[in-house]
Amino acid sequence: MLAFLALVAYICTTFKNFLMNSNRNIAETARQAGIVGAGGAGFPTHVKLQANVEAVIVNGAECEPLLANDKALMTNRTQDLLHGLELAVKATGAQRSIIAVKAKNKDVINHLRSRTGSQAVEIFELSDYYPAGDEQEIVRDALGRTVPEAGLPLEVGALVQNVETLVNLAKADEGEVVTKRVLTVVGEVGKPAVVEAPIGMSAGEVIEQCGGITCDDPILYIGGPMMGEVTPSLDQPITKTLSGLFILPKDNFLIQKRSISMRHILRQAQAACTTCMQCTEACPRYLLGHRIHPHKIMGAVSLGLTDQSDTFLESFLCMFCGMCEYACPMWLSPKRVYAEVRAELSKKGSKYPRRERDYRDHPMREARRIPVSRLIRRYGLTKYDRKLPVEIKPLETQKVHIPLRQHLGIPASPIVSEGEYVKAGQLLGEIPDEKLGARIHASIEGRVIQVGPEEVIIER
Ligand code: SF4
Ligand code: SF4
Repeated sequence: MLAFLALVAYICTTFKNFLMNSNRNIAETARQAGIVGAGGAGFPTHVKLQANVEAVIVNGAECEPLLANDKALMTNRTQDLLHGLELAVKATGAQRSIIAVKAKNKDVINHLRSRTGSQAVEIFELSDYYPAGDEQEIVRDALGRTVPEAGLPLEVGALVQNVETLVNLAKADEGEVVTKRVLTVVGEVGKPAVVEAPIGMSAGEVIEQCGGITCDDPILYIGGPMMGEVTPSLDQPITKTLSGLFILPKDNFLIQKRSISMRHILRQAQAACTTCMQCTEACPRYLLGHRIHPHKIMGAVSLGLTDQSDTFLESFLCMFCGMCEYACPMWLSPKRVYAEVRAELSKKGSKYPRRERDYRDHPMREARRIPVSRLIRRYGLTKYDRKLPVEIKPLETQKVHIPLRQHLGIPASPIVSEGEYVKAGQLLGEIPDEKLGARIHASIEGRVIQVGPEEVIIER
């Protein structure tokens, strides 16, 4: 009997070790392939995959107006997405896998349902509001749990992954590294489309291959309309986290609003804010029960930018979604004030002081949600709100400028030399062991013509 029990214990331990090793292997596969969160700040995926969670949630909300890349990926790369999800579930020991998609995308939902078959994948239907794709909103809606202030979904048993991140994980399982990015190109361009571009290709060339610019005084806007930003140069390289390129005319309302200098914004905050609280009432984090009050910071900036009071430290709770800007009747921007305050406080090493507490949704949370269509109208984007072809158009280039930092953490250290010939997928930049970061690979085959601390340039 004792021998039998010892045998059972041995088998259990061996099986547990096997599972732990295979979980570590999935995270290591992600590390080797240089995978980062494709939907935001570029957090290295291998770190997230080492957590144990109850549910893996695919963020298919795509709540930023006009973006269509996740929809295209869910439709065209379904098998990869489901395989990536399966790997993430295995790595984290999750019991549930959920794909969160907007209910309005019926075609995508039906397609996913037809492909999940017997797989135990739940489809969670989101309503069409902004920011339905914020990971804290998704966790609240899909699991009924509130992520703590300044916390992560992992703390409430959830791992939220972007669609493209999981597609990249599936490809990594077959030996492919991250060399391309799927993004939406829209606005004043000849042929708006969802494209797949080599990392490091210039935004200008991507736009050129989408029919070129169709307006006078064009301004390049990168990312989504709500969280993106104006960039002065068409040389901006495509990175692992870049989800959209918009060309908008200089007189577009969104461009004008985002081009205002910080000095002017601070002056406006002091002169024009009526402390009406409409920004706070619209803030999704405030509505989740977090202690963030953008109306307070607008009054307080006259004291300077680095006070250590809660009013200033609340800047660490902001996710820069832009809903406060949308809600302000005076067209002020608490979001940009928070960004400036947080940058100043971070320089001084300040952090948000986390305190244990219970969270309760604001009773008006549901009622205050703003439909995406209203944002499109308000920001003068109706003209560009077209149904894009669902196909992903592959692009090619002769030259790439590949940034060595496309992720959170330290930049990758270049391991190639000028004059060297590299193949597509070859390692260009490495991250030292135990440091947070992501590896960088060559996106085209060619000669390395320049290696610097910030980028590697390759030409065919
Ligand atoms: S909504 Fe505008 S005016 Fe009202 S408190 Fe907020 S920033 Fe001030
Ligand atoms: S950008 Fe504005 S609305 Fe969004 S989280 Fe920050 S304060 Fe709240």
